[in-house]
Amino acid sequence: MPKFGLFGGSFDPPHIGHLRLAVAAANDLGLERVFIVPSGQSPGKHTSFADDYDRLLMCQMTFGGVDDRFCVDDREIRRGGVSYTIDTLQELQEEYASNMDASKSWYIIAGADCLEHFHSWHEYRKILKLATLAIARREQGGAPFKHAGLSPTERGRVRFIDVEPTVVSSTEVRSAILGGGAWTPLVTTAVAEFIQTQELYAG
Ligand code: ATP
Repeated sequence: MPKFGLFGGSFDPPHIGHLRLAVAAANDLGLERVFIVPSGQSPGKHTSFADDYDRLLMCQMTFGGVDDRFCVDDREIRRGGVSYTIDTLQELQEEYASNMDASKSWYIIAGADCLEHFHSWHEYRKILKLATLAIARREQGGAPFKHAGLSPTERGRVRFIDVEPTVVSSTEVRSAILGGGAWTPLVTTAVAEFIQTQELYAG
């Protein structure tokens, strides 16, 4: 039975934590395809720092060359406005519909920070009916995953990805660029060159 992953985010910029998570999820869950979907406007984030087209290009640079399981999808940017995972998931499920049980075949890939506030995501109950939430740690150490606000049944729709955390965020990359810290190892070589030539995040 084919399995698919949906990995959304603002990717502003995409970094090695995103890349390692996507690869680990694909390997751990046995995904045939992972859709990397940069958001139009992320709920809860009022603005993006790089423009939509640059974020899309950087996603293609980061994930495009890995292997043909990874596919950068521009539908949320084309849709515009606030991006909701439920809309993207339903669209993808319609496009890739077959007679299989969709809920067993789709995984929403996310970091542990998302799990903590997942109950505030638009139509989160519906998302959990249509897909499994595949969660990875972002921090080193033994802090337990928090399923804030989810019922026991809903918690049963959460699966953990066995991957060593990569402690990095887009905020950290942007701050290091502004503050003159070392940031290039936190993104791929192609993205580092693109950020430098386009002078992104430089204030
Ligand atoms: P920002 O610092 O701007 O908030 P971010 O680094 O959290 O950005 P997003 O694009 O908001 O990146 O995240 C997209 C998805 O990737 C989210 O599910 C987030 O939890 C996950 N993620 C981001 N960084 C990591 C990481 N280092 N390890 C695991 N998951 C991550």
